[in-house]
Amino acid sequence: MVVSRLRSEVRKQLKENGHEADWIISHVTGMSQSDFIMHPREVTDDEMRKIKDIITRRNSGEPLQYILGYTEFMGLTFKVNELTLIPRQDTETLVETVVTRIGHDHVRVLDIGTGSGCIGISIAKLCPNAEVTLLDYSDAILAVARENAEHNGVDVKLMRCDILEEIPTGEYDLIVSNPPYIETETIFSLDNIVSSYEPPEALDGGFDGLMFYHRIVEDVAKKILTEDGAIAFEIGYTQGDAVSEILHEEDFSNIKVLRDPCGNDRVVTARLKPALFS
Ligand code: GLN
Repeated sequence: MVVSRLRSEVRKQLKENGHEADWIISHVTGMSQSDFIMHPREVTDDEMRKIKDIITRRNSGEPLQYILGYTEFMGLTFKVNELTLIPRQDTETLVETVVTRIGHDHVRVLDIGTGSGCIGISIAKLCPNAEVTLLDYSDAILAVARENAEHNGVDVKLMRCDILEEIPTGEYDLIVSNPPYIETETIFSLDNIVSSYEPPEALDGGFDGLMFYHRIVEDVAKKILTEDGAIAFEIGYTQGDAVSEILHEEDFSNIKVLRDPCGNDRVVTARLKPALFS
């Protein structure tokens, strides 16, 4: 079948995910989107079989990122598997905020709950003088992050630490995190794709969704942040006030809630500064 006909065929078969047709065809055939138009060719039987298999899996609900094993984030390619959350476009707001503030400064950054490493690796890529440590609770997850760091040509440190059990070592100027922030009860009523394919550990923020914000702000930050260190969190769009309050209670200053391009609250930043008369 010639590629132009295949594109409309695949779009139709993918139903509501038709916009993923070009990605699938490019992945299997190695043709770029401009090749489809400028250098079209017949697609082989073997390629057709592969494309059909992908469509079957996709139509049963499996996210394309897991089927193909990678995704794009901040213009970089990240390997993902069933152990790691699929990096979301929402999270680019957090990275953009942090990268703009760091610029060329020498800043020691700790990415807590790094998963695929998408946040810390993007920061390391865009801020040449940032010293980035990627933290997660399992070696298997850190192996994915390491592969992504190598693939994207950045030099980062890796640390295995379950922050609910222990305090990470080292001293940092900035903690950045997109922690699990969904209320336990809500996870299984979420869109089927999320609850059946993505790791629940990457989503479950405890009964009120705020468990990791409490733990990081109340127990972790003061032990490992420098005196004027800062935090930048991704939050669920309803959590701006609650997370600001947690930071306020612990004497953080300059607390700001920032929105994503859709207009939803998405990021909270704050600075640690010793209270003057306490
Ligand atoms: N830091 C990773 C991401 O933002 C993983 C986050 C998580 O597992 N909650 O994609």
